[in-house]
Amino acid sequence: MIKAILWDVDGTILDFKLAEKEAVKSCFKALKLGEISDSQIESYSLINKKYWERLERGELTKQEVLLGRFKEFFSSIGIDESFAEPFNDLYQVRLGDTISFFPGAMETLCALKGKVVQCAVTNGTKKAQSIKLKNSGLESVFDKIYISEDIGFDKPDKRFFGYVFADLSGIKKDEIIIVGDSPSGDIAGGINAGIRTCLFCPNGNAPDVKADYIVDRLEKIIELLEAIE
Ligand SMILES: [Mg+2]
Repeated sequence: MIKAILWDVDGTILDFKLAEKEAVKSCFKALKLGEISDSQIESYSLINKKYWERLERGELTKQEVLLGRFKEFFSSIGIDESFAEPFNDLYQVRLGDTISFFPGAMETLCALKGKVVQCAVTNGTKKAQSIKLKNSGLESVFDKIYISEDIGFDKPDKRFFGYVFADLSGIKKDEIIIVGDSPSGDIAGGINAGIRTCLFCPNGNAPDVKADYIVDRLEKIIELLEAIE
């Protein structure tokens, strides 16, 4: 029986793409960097994804990700790399301005409230995640919030999960499941840490990963939990 769910936040509960797009646009405006097209935002989005995956593989530090993604993007569109730092500072705040839930996210969290311990497990920065969790109302829905910056290790590092398990004392590993959209962060992390894993794949195209379960809609988690003995 599952007693605790570790929920990834960005790309799982919240639709990160929309928040990212609006935040990038608004920072371009604020820093007077001119207009940015949708295709440029899309290209930034791919660069960003690549940088976070490198963090999950242990190749980069968080700070290298935060600045490196903007440096690479800016140099690709002819903007001076020195804008990366002020841009990122503002971006961390603006990311919380646009809150967009995946369909069924809040309903699922509310349906499970009180039945299992629901924890947010996120690699985002403390600043951006705190604003986002507050603005979205998620702060009061989750029983526990684990932000990698507070813990000192990012998913999929075993030490991140070790911290969470120690804090959830009394709940055994086989009573915990992680739900997330990242094969390299959430699923690999969960497997290494020895808990059950569920990949959230909203577009239905599940990559070739070894998750115990794959869902394309978050509501399916409710029946999934009922089915786990
Ligand atoms: Mg995610």
